[in-house]
Formats: sequence, structure tokens, C-alpha cells
Amino acid sequence: MKSQHFFHSLLLPAFIMLLLLTPYTGQSEELRAASGILELEFMKKAEGIRLQALRDLDYDRNLLAENGKALFELILYDSDDEELRICSEKGWNHTACTAQDGEVLLQWKGHATAGLEDFLVEVLASARPADNAWQWHIRTEGTLKETRLEDVSFPQITLNSSLSDGGILYPDGPGALIQYHWLNDTQKWQRYGGGWGSMQFMAAFSKWSAEEHQSGFYFAMHDPKGSEKEIVFQSKAEEKTATFFFEHAIPDTTKTNNYELPGKAVWRLFRGDWFDAALYYKNWAKDTVLWWPKLSDEGREDTPLWMRELCVWAQTGGSPEEVVERVKAFAEFLDVPVGFHWYNWHEIPFDNDYPHYFPAKEGFEEAVRELQEAQVHVMPYINARLWDTRDCEDQDCSFTTVALPAVTKNEDGSPVTEKYRSKEKDGSEVALGVMCPSTELWQDKVNEIVSRLHQQCGTKGVYLDQVAAATPVLCMDESHGHPLAGGSWWNEGYWAMLDRIRAEMPAGHMITTECNGETFVNRFDAYLSWHWQTDGQLPVFPAIYGGTIQCFGRAFGGGETRDLALRMKTGQQLVFGEQIGWINPDLALAEENRAFFKQAVQLRWLLRRYFYAGEMLRPPVLEGTMPRVRADWQWHGEHWVNTDALLTGAWSIPKEKKTALIFANVSDETITLKLVIRRPGDNTQDTPLMRTILQDKNTATRSDQVTPGQTLELTLEAQTACAWEFQEDIVYSPH
Ligand SMILES: [Zn+2]
Repeated sequence: MKSQHFFHSLLLPAFIMLLLLTPYTGQSEELRAASGILELEFMKKAEGIRLQALRDLDYDRNLLAENGKALFELILYDSDDEELRICSEKGWNHTACTAQDGEVLLQWKGHATAGLEDFLVEVLASARPADNAWQWHIRTEGTLKETRLEDVSFPQITLNSSLSDGGILYPDGPGALIQYHWLNDTQKWQRYGGGWGSMQFMAAFSKWSAEEHQSGFYFAMHDPKGSEKEIVFQSKAEEKTATFFFEHAIPDTTKTNNYELPGKAVWRLFRGDWFDAALYYKNWAKDTVLWWPKLSDEGREDTPLWMRELCVWAQTGGSPEEVVERVKAFAEFLDVPVGFHWYNWHEIPFDNDYPHYFPAKEGFEEAVRELQEAQVHVMPYINARLWDTRDCEDQDCSFTTVALPAVTKNEDGSPVTEKYRSKEKDGSEVALGVMCPSTELWQDKVNEIVSRLHQQCGTKGVYLDQVAAATPVLCMDESHGHPLAGGSWWNEGYWAMLDRIRAEMPAGHMITTECNGETFVNRFDAYLSWHWQTDGQLPVFPAIYGGTIQCFGRAFGGGETRDLALRMKTGQQLVFGEQIGWINPDLALAEENRAFFKQAVQLRWLLRRYFYAGEMLRPPVLEGTMPRVRADWQWHGEHWVNTDALLTGAWSIPKEKKTALIFANVSDETITLKLVIRRPGDNTQDTPLMRTILQDKNTATRSDQVTPGQTLELTLEAQTACAWEFQEDIVYSPH
């Protein structure tokens, strides 16, 4: 480790640069710049600039793969509408690199491509030495002639195996650690803003080792408006490389070649794991993003208390006769207030004749009243994004005459439509127009439906399908007044719609939507997390957003391993801090599921304050041999998921110095594992820690004293859960 000290002492101050002119030719220049322990090395030639090394100075290790992606790539269209791609490394007439005061400015001027003679690209890298990070910005400038800029892919990087052999964090659902990336070439390519590209960052990790522990490379966009972007990870199995980039559709693509990256791209080298990456993102987000909610000591005071406290959801559909008694039985059995997501409460068929949700089925309003008197909070389904192109059975009553001007448009002016396998009565598939959220017509329509449900029908909530699930459409309708294609206008349209709904919503009511695209966190009271179905998923989203929004619901399927799959999902919901279920009441009440399901729900009830007034801590890692379980989670068909047999979570209420460790044994075997708990700091280890053990509403809590630093045994019987609560801050492994 001597070299480490050598580099540190050499590198004071933390930011230095070396500019080496190659003798004689004067054409190539090498430029090195360090931000803390993360060093960039560029090679500048007349025709382009290449990042040729990225060094971890602590270990004098180059993290960059050979022959990787260029720093940027631009996607352009010529006058015949043929796609062209140009990159930072070749074809330029002039380049420049300058470095001073912790900044590196890179410039590219005039490209060989027709129409780009005066085109300019500027990249600025700013050192953040305290964080071992670089912040990046890009802008382009040029007269729009025969070649039109459409997308900017920036920044791009290809890492070698030294910092990616331990896994790749991708923002799929709650976040997932990909560890299969070198079995075959793989690709994850999601548009940001929906359920499968929910946050603006990825990370690569080294394998954990006893000497070095784990290092990570954080690759993010810190864009406070959450503009449209593609989030891309690609791996090459043979070369063992990992490529990351963000591709941004530029706003007003048909009108300008000028572009400015919204926010900053961030590269950061750190020692740690996924939780450290999540905390770094959270620290940026909570001060900066336009969707971070106002929080008090009671969490989100704009969310009714009943909703912040809610622990469980029933999900079914049909007429009052088909649902009321079943859902009441569910609530009675669980003996806590429940939510009920009511599908098909309307006369129109599902995914058909939208948005004509009224009339409701006969007896709907009376049923809502009856359910809510029985501690069942009713939340009917509506879709907040689609208008059927044949909206009166198989006839077009109002799509063309009313909706069409406000539908999103393709480049040729045609409406953007989607199909979801629902059928018109003639057997043809229903085609639904995707409404543009920036239009007053659609904002008014959704507000009108939500108001009627809240105020006339009295439902405590309304579910607005698809808002945080489906990603922005690159709408090209000039009459809508928003920039064409890329930008943040999609979010801003929905924000205006939702702000108005929230302003007009009666007290005690709430709204939710599908999936967990992050840009609407402060404008919904809860996100439906039903798509959190990925093998390797981690509670990254709860680690960032725990306490800012409730998450609820998993999709429960069938198959031979359905009972185990149900327990795995329920157990994961409990430790991730989600409101549990979103389940057919009959399934929750079935003999094989009822005991575990009820215990998980009631344990959450005992801990409920942690999930709205608190925040998530790093999940504890238990010592000993952890058994694994595997079940078919049935997501778009067979879908096998592996998890630990004993799931763990940790939550705290920092201001009250309360901590809860949560454990759920989802397997059929009793499991015994070990854990060491201490106080933070070294001086208070003689005084015992008071521990309270919680199980469910009907089991008396037990308290005992544990000695800090002593190895504690945790024995959990098959299909049970428990929590250990401490009235002070604690630390535990892997700290
Ligand atoms: Zn539009």
C-alpha cells in the first residue's frame, strides 16, 4: 500500500494536471487531470479527442477498456433523412484541450460531414476532488443547414473488468444488481422516467476482496428536471467490458442544432456498494430535484395520515356484488385498515372506450360508503394517459372531434397509438391514442374524472394508471406549444395536471399511479410497485425515496412454486418498506398463505411510522450460511427469481433515534444466523442496549438487554417474521 501514500502526497492539492506536448509534430497532446483519486487522461489529435485512460490513483489502476466507446456520439439526419453518426474521436477540422482551475475544456470545431462546417461541440469536465468525482457538461452550437442534430449520446464510457467484475447496478424497478453480464453479451436500454428506468444512475462494482473490499464507479445524470433520456448498459462477454451511456433526444430537433445538456453528468470513484451509490444520489436529489417533497417530522403532510399508515392492499374487480363481501372479509381477517384497488367498477370494458369511465356499475357509490365504513379505503382504477380511437364501442364518437388535437403525434403528424390486447366488439384490437400531458384538454379531462370520483363517488383515492410507468413520448405536434421531441416538457405537463388535481382534491384524499419513475414522487401519494419482479433486485429506490412516497403492491402469480413466490414477494415488501399485498383477497385468505401474510401485514402495522416518518438504512448482513430460495415469480410467463431465505431490512427515524431491524424467513426451514450490534463510537459499549422484539398485533412485545459487540443469535421459524427495535442509533454488520 505504499504506492497509495505516494500518490496521495504527490497529488496535493487534489487537482493537478499535466499537459504533455508531443515533440516535433505538435499535433498530438496528452492531457492528464485528477480529481481526488480519479484521473482522466485524454489524447488530443487534430481530428478528434480520445479519453485514453481513467485511473484509480490509489491502486494505480486503469479502469478503462481498450477500444471502448468515444466520449460522445451525435446522431444526425441529412437532407434525405438518412441517419449519420459522428463521434468525438474523428472527422473534425479542429480540436482544443485546455485545463485550469479544476476544469478541463474540450472543443471540437467543424466536421467533415456536409452542413457541419461551422458546428461546435464543447465538453467541460469539472473536478469535485472531495468526492473523487468529475462533473460533465456538453453543449453544441451550429446553424441548422442540411444536417439536423437529433440525439446526443453523452457521456459514454467502456470499463474493463477491474471495476465491473462484481456486478452492475441498473435502475430497473427498485434497482437491480446484474451479475450475468459476462455469460453472454447483454444490453439494458430503457427510456428514463418509467418503471424500468426509474432513476438517473447506474454503477459498476469490483468483486469484494478481503484486502480491498469493494470499489464502485458511479455513472449518473444529475438532471433536476428529469429530462427525457435513454439509460444504456451494454456488456461484451469475451472482452469482459461494461459500457454505459445516456442518450438525450434534443428539444426542438427540427428547428435547431444547438443543444445544452440539462444538469450534469457525474462520474465518481468510491469504496463501497450499491447502498453507498444510492446515498450519493439521494444527497444530490434531496437538495436539487423538482420532485422532492416537503417533509416534516411526520413525513409527507400532504398525504393523509391513513394513507401514510396503510399497510396492505386488496386488488380485485367487478360489480359491488362481486367485490364488497370478499374485501370486507380480507379487512376483517387482517384486523388493520386496508386499501382496495377496485378494477372494472365502470360499465365500459377494460382498456376500451377510455376515458368514458362513467357511468359506474350500479350500486358503486353505496358500496364505496359501505367499504369505507368498514376501514376499507377505496381507490378505483382509471387510466391517465389513453383515449380510445373508437371510444363508443366500435364507433369513433369523440376521438377525432375532441381528443385528436391533444393526442401525441409522430413526425409525420399521425397520432401515437398503443394496443394492449383488448378487443372491440368486431374482434379487432383496441387502438388507444396516447394523450399529450402538456395539453389543457387532457389536463382538464383527467382532473374532471378524478374530481368526480373523489367528490361525487366519495372514494378516498384514485389510481391514475401509467403516469410513472410509461415513458415520455417524443411528441412532434407543434400546436401543443412544447419543444418538439426531447426535453423536460413531458414532466412539466404532468406536473401542471397533478398540481391542479392536488390543489382541488378534498382533504383526506389521495392519488397514486403505476410504477416508480421518480419524477412524480412529490405529486403522488404512492407508487404501485407491482413490476418489482427482477432477479437480483435491491431496495435502491426505497434507500433514496423511503419516507417521501409510499410504494405498494406486487403482482402475485400461479404455478407450482406460487406459495413460496408469494412469501418471497411479501417478505421483500416488508423489508423494502412497501405497503403489502395488492392481492386477490381469496389468495391472501387461502390456508397456505394466510398465516405468513397476516403476520407480515401486522408486523408492518407495528412498525408503520418508520416507513413514512423515517428512512431506510443499509440492510443487515447476517453471519453464517444463508440458505437461498428460488421460485417462479410468473412475470410475462415463467420467471425464476432467487433470494436469500431470510430477508433483512433496516429502517430508522433519525430525529427520534429509533432503529428497527426487520427479518422475514420465507422458507420452510427454521434458520439460525448471527449478528453483532454496537453503538456508534467506541466509548459507550459497557451499557447494555435495550432491544424490543416485535412479531404481530396479538403477540406481546418482549424486551431484553443485549451487550454491544456480543454476537447475537437470530432464530426464525419457517414462514415467520420479526423485528428488533432499539430506541437509539446502532451499527451492525456490514459496518
Ligand atoms: Zn404534444
